[in-house]
Amino acid sequence: MNLVILGPQGSGKGAQAKLLVKKLGLAYFEPGKIFRQEAEKKTTLGKRVANYMSRGKLVPDPVIRKVLDSFLTKSDLSKGVVFDGIPRNLSQSEDFEKELGKKKIELDRTVLIDISEKESIRRLTARRICPQCGRVYNLLTLPPKKDEKCDDCQSKLISRKDESVEAIKERLKTYREQTLPVVGYYRKKGILLEIDGERPIEVIHQDIMKRLKREK
Ligand code: AMP
Repeated sequence: MNLVILGPQGSGKGAQAKLLVKKLGLAYFEPGKIFRQEAEKKTTLGKRVANYMSRGKLVPDPVIRKVLDSFLTKSDLSKGVVFDGIPRNLSQSEDFEKELGKKKIELDRTVLIDISEKESIRRLTARRICPQCGRVYNLLTLPPKKDEKCDDCQSKLISRKDESVEAIKERLKTYREQTLPVVGYYRKKGILLEIDGERPIEVIHQDIMKRLKREK
């Protein structure tokens, strides 16, 4: 099964993508994480994208094309794949379809995990990440067991650079202006599953699984 997961910032699309990957044994592509890791390591790619990310802007399409191509070439896609956070604008969705077409990959469903802007801001300002192992927490919905420390490696949790209130507002604006048209495109195509993201993670996961089976 080949899936795209979209949703506003803080919708929990990453958490849902990871559950689907585990349950269905799918490959996983998350450009946002690749960019964060590269920026952390200060590689050439990392330096190129860091400035866009910290301002809440999308990185340029040619960069996306390159990382997507590298992923599609290197990965085992025999069981299917989850694309988390791509395509984010209409021009990316064209490139994306072309690239998938070349690899004979057909998209089965696009899953939209939807939450309000108010909820998005509330959740993102509570998000914390472990700088050591990358595990993601949320002080409201998924808190660490002790203080603000990672359950796995006990490092002190931090906020992501692009999660200042200004950057969050900019990311939401980008989502509204550039990504919502992509959602509309998949809705028109008849492959969009619209999921209420303002529920507990496991309830949402069960809902997605049920609807993927029912609406095959
Ligand atoms: P995310 O974790 O998916 O919110 O991604 C974090 C940041 O990475 C975004 O704010 C963008 O700057 C960049 N990014 C991730 N995916 C894309 C994409 N498909 N197109 C452009 N920029 C992206």
